[in-house]
Amino acid sequence: SAKEKLNTLAERDRKTIWHQISSYNETKRPMVVQKGEGAWITDHEGNRYLDGMSGLWCVNVGYGREELADAAAEQMKKLAYVPMTQSHEPAIRLAEKLNELLEGEYKIFYSNSGSDANEVAFKLARQYHQQNDEPSRFKFISRYRAYHGSSMGALSATGQALRKYKYEPLVPGFLHIAPPDNYRRPAGQSVEDYNVKCALEFEEKIIWEQKETIAGIIMEPLITGGGVLIPHPVYVKKVQEICRRHGVLLIIDEVICGFGRTGRVFGHQHFGIKPDIITMAKGLTSAYLPLSVTAIRKDIYDRFDSEEENSHFRHVNTFGGNPSACAVALKNLEIIERENLVDRSAQLGERLLKELVDLREHPHVGDIRGLGFLLGIELVENKESKEPASNERMAAIVGACKEIGLIIGKNGDTVAGFNNVLTVSPPLSCTDEDVDFIIAVLKKVFNEIK
Ligand code: PMP
Repeated sequence: SAKEKLNTLAERDRKTIWHQISSYNETKRPMVVQKGEGAWITDHEGNRYLDGMSGLWCVNVGYGREELADAAAEQMKKLAYVPMTQSHEPAIRLAEKLNELLEGEYKIFYSNSGSDANEVAFKLARQYHQQNDEPSRFKFISRYRAYHGSSMGALSATGQALRKYKYEPLVPGFLHIAPPDNYRRPAGQSVEDYNVKCALEFEEKIIWEQKETIAGIIMEPLITGGGVLIPHPVYVKKVQEICRRHGVLLIIDEVICGFGRTGRVFGHQHFGIKPDIITMAKGLTSAYLPLSVTAIRKDIYDRFDSEEENSHFRHVNTFGGNPSACAVALKNLEIIERENLVDRSAQLGERLLKELVDLREHPHVGDIRGLGFLLGIELVENKESKEPASNERMAAIVGACKEIGLIIGKNGDTVAGFNNVLTVSPPLSCTDEDVDFIIAVLKKVFNEIK
């Protein structure tokens, strides 16, 4: 029967596929996803789930958009490939569009993934300092709990020990400091004072390391996958100020925050800063095709713009800026604008926070926070001690939500013991009924699990 055939798919999967992070066995079967429509996906057994985790993969406009499929197909038929040593119209139009959205003058370098985009940023930053006769600047500072990718450089910048320690030694010159975690700030400190203090830790690190050795700081506008840690605006402003004071480049990773997730086109726009380098991926095409961008402030690029061969940026990426991916990105950005999805993200996020306010009374809910359509629910064993919720408790809640049709995330393998923040980040195109459903499921599950 059809059902048997589909079950066989799961078995065949178990025999042949090496999955990311999870391994599957007889009792834990992979979900073979067959179809996606709007905010919903359907698995091989016909079960439907609202994809409340898609935000971390950034299917921002939702599944099943024929317009995006058509944009890809039309471009593929017309011109399937051009290496970006040359150029093509979708790449040019997309670069212009991104400049408009970034509200500044940036040069656009294309690659395929968030990790790629960050690698480009690191190489560019190092070479930029060499062009400026400061070759000793090679180190980068990032934050614990942050995720910046899986390739060796991006993994080195990542601040989640469990993702790294088996693969060491990683790339030398990547240093880490703690991010602001307002919920766990020291007693008696205002959020603002605490955030200023956290920003100054960057400066302290720069000075202790000798500022002439620091190439750049990389951070997300807010830590997304590592626990939805939203800084006070003073933090981000201060970090920019510190970078400028010490000649350090500020690289902002918009791989998740970009394209509406936080209720602004780019997360950093909440804070009124002008980063030197901005990396983006995922939501650029709503994940329909692989494409990423490293946007470099024009005056930084100018240091490379010379006939002298030695000053060229030596970085080639075969698929980067693929014409169909660029065509899909353009159409995706058109949909986001036409449907006002950035504002919608802000409104839906506010609604979620408001309607889930009762959850704060739950004995295991330590904190609920969000910016735009990205919600974090931090669970604890004990509200007084703030001891992080156990893995078992986290799994029970994620499992109970899935059981009744809602997929939510929990932050990845951060430092052991801090795997305790649920993340809710559905497509920005969610209908009002979809949001009702998310609220109903979360309320039900938290009511039942005490
Ligand atoms: N930066 C951030 C903030 C991310 O969340 C991710 C992916 N989760 C990456 C970079 C890496 O992106 P990719 O998986 O496309 O390499």
